[in-house]
Order: sequence, then C-alpha cells, then structure tokens
Amino acid sequence: MKKVAVFCGSSLGFSDVYKNDAIKLGDYFAKNNIGLVYGGGKIGMMGVLADTIIKNEGEVIGVIPGLLRHEEVAHNNITKMIVTKTMSKRKVKISRLVNGYIALPGGFGTMDEIFEALTLNQLGIEQKPVGILNTNGFFDYLIKQLDVMVNEGYLKQSNKEMLIVSDSIDDLLLKMFNYKAPEKTKVTNKVVS
Ligand code: AMP
Repeated sequence: MKKVAVFCGSSLGFSDVYKNDAIKLGDYFAKNNIGLVYGGGKIGMMGVLADTIIKNEGEVIGVIPGLLRHEEVAHNNITKMIVTKTMSKRKVKISRLVNGYIALPGGFGTMDEIFEALTLNQLGIEQKPVGILNTNGFFDYLIKQLDVMVNEGYLKQSNKEMLIVSDSIDDLLLKMFNYKAPEKTKVTNKVVS
C-alpha cells in the first residue's frame, strides 16, 4: 500500500491512549514509506497524526473542502494540500488517491467516512482494505452493532468481514496488506446527471 487514507477525530479525546496510538501510526507510516491522505486539519487526532509524519519526513496529503480551508483548522505545514469544491468531491478525491482506509477513534465525521469506504467495497465499486484500530476497545460497541445488523438480516456476514479490526498497528497493517477482496458483486450503474 503506497497511500492510505486515515479518518480520525478532529478532537483528541479525553485519554492519552488515543493520541499515543495516532503518534505510533504516524511513526509506522513514515518508517514504512506509506503516504498519508487525510482531511487536511491541524486539530485533534488529525493534527497529531499529520505532525508526526511530517516530523519523520514522511508524506502527508490533505484533501480539504474550500469551506474549511480558510478556517483556523487547516494544516499549513504538510507535503501537499488539495482543495475541493464540496465535501462529497473530497471523498471522491481521497478514494482516487489511496490503496486502503483506516479509522482511528473519532466522531460523526470519522464514522461517515469509514462507512462510505465500506459501502463502496460492499457494492464492489472499490476493492480496498478497510481497517479500524480498536485502541482501548473504542469500537467494541460499533462491532456489536454490526453483529445486530447481521443477526437481524440487514448486513451479510461476508460484508461484515470486509472490516478489518485490530488493536495492534502492526497486526492491522499486516492484515490490510494481505487483504483479498471477496468476489465482486455485480452492480448496475445508472448514469444520472
Ligand atoms: P469527527 O470524527 O467528527 O471529529 O470528524 C473528523 C473527520 O471528518 C476527519 O477524518 C476529517 O476528514 C473530517 N473533518 C471533520 N472536521 C474537520 C475539520 N475541521 N477539518 C478538516 N477535516 C475535518
């Protein structure tokens, strides 16, 4: 994987364990020459991750919608910043740049982005590994909710298994490197303007 998108909180969270894992992931990316593609912010988990990679002379590409660019939150010291017209164009741009996706702890924005990546895989539009770093069991309830979806007939077990989960960075990345997408689902693409 040359470039990986990381979605994570614009907040830091209350416990240092989350920030520490963002730093560890940044170190891993820089050491293994994996370029980071992310939301372009300098705040919260996003800022810590980007700063760590820049400090270690790695590659950081921010993709930010024009709307947020001029706010205090945009990072001003990364390898490259791409500005998109809208939030949805940002997602498309990110997906074109990366070979995989990771979520670290975060809130609505993080959930929105990682579930969009899973949905693209479920529909067979993309075949890229999607992982979550389950620091401190942060995602345990989310994983339980996915089981509810499977048990109640709203999510196929095989689609649930697309999501790679680990609380160890080395293990998560290894699983992502070895990921084999399930047989492609047939999708009928209707063209709408
Ligand atoms: P949240 O998890 O709600 O804190 O949102 C974080 C995610 O949404 C990140 O992965 C970003 O891509 C995006 N995002 C939310 N707020 C910002 C911001 N102020 N600047 C840049 N990206 C943001």
